[in-house]
Amino acid sequence: MAPRVHREIRLKRRPVGIPTEADFEIAETPVPEPSEGEVLVRNIYMSVDPYMRGRMIERKSYMPPFELGKPLEGGCVGQVVESRQGKLSVGQYVLGMQGWREYYVSDGSGLMPVQPAGAPVRAYLGVLGMPGLTAYVGLLDIGKPEAGNTIFVAAAAGAVGSVVCQIGKIRGCRVVGSAGSDEKVRWLLEEARVDAAFNYKAVGSLTQELERRCPDGVDVYFENVGGEHLEAALDNMKQHGRIVLCGMISRYNSAQPAPGPWNLFQAVAKRLTLRGFLVGDHLGRVGSFASDMGRWIAEGKVRWRETIVDGIENAPAAFIGLFKGENIGKMLVRIGPEPGGCP
Ligand code: NDP
Repeated sequence: MAPRVHREIRLKRRPVGIPTEADFEIAETPVPEPSEGEVLVRNIYMSVDPYMRGRMIERKSYMPPFELGKPLEGGCVGQVVESRQGKLSVGQYVLGMQGWREYYVSDGSGLMPVQPAGAPVRAYLGVLGMPGLTAYVGLLDIGKPEAGNTIFVAAAAGAVGSVVCQIGKIRGCRVVGSAGSDEKVRWLLEEARVDAAFNYKAVGSLTQELERRCPDGVDVYFENVGGEHLEAALDNMKQHGRIVLCGMISRYNSAQPAPGPWNLFQAVAKRLTLRGFLVGDHLGRVGSFASDMGRWIAEGKVRWRETIVDGIENAPAAFIGLFKGENIGKMLVRIGPEPGGCP
């Protein structure tokens, strides 16, 4: 039985610089009632993702800005608790985009039923979901690595980066990762089994460190961070190398335009290919991603970590934590209990 009221997180004001908790507000509101043809879903996990920072800015981009005073949106996994339609029945787990709230109604469009298969359902927000697909298409389709290539991955212990590293290993590449703590570096070496990893916060010059780790140069750079990471990669790329532009999190909170890479000319001198991509343009790859990733997980070739923050009231802190490197692997928020043992 659903309660009468539930909680949702709204955007109170547009953040300037790194968001603070005062930019968000938590509100109690009646649990919506499903009409004929609709279901009521209780959220169990929600995702916080770096791209959400861009949607907090009032500007034209590839996704519309979040509206002030309205609940935020994002990936979530929940369970149908009331159904007034034939397709989704009570008890079914579903992947949706109405995170940041405890309950929501839907006519089912945009909801994907998820079945636990060798992984808990929350993995559909991480390794089996959007971040995993991003790593898959970004590395394989955009980066096109060949066996024996050297791949450098930024934010390597994060949701996307950690999967990129392991797909690189599966493809027979030498993988070098950069991350922001010794604990992350240890995880990369011991669990993700990369060839080398370093804590970028503990090195003097990123360019020199990368040169030391990749003396023969980098064939594929998987860019998640921007700024100094991009400059270091440009300096260390091999001729005809490929740079996969996936994200630039170091720039998402810049209140002022940040200067571009001072050494972009290296792209000319080394005949590099720099290519950006958005995972949403590659949904045609979901089928092969799901079958490859399912197999790699079953074979123990892909492992993953999650950082789980408890309570919807802590969702803003979890989101802000992404910009402070507080997560190893996928950052998730547990919104509700897992009665009956959420798989
Ligand atoms: P992560 O799980 O990697 O979390 C973010 C991590 O970024 C932090 O843990 C932190 O790790 C690192 N970071 C934060 N601020 C900085 C900074 N100023 N300098 C260097 N590192 C920083 O997030 P995701 O895996 O979800 O996303 C990774 C990247 O991929 C992001 O840029 C995101 O926007 C992008 N992305 C792009 C998609 C696309 O379609 N193109 C789809 C999904 C994600 P550390 O401790 O190592 O610093």
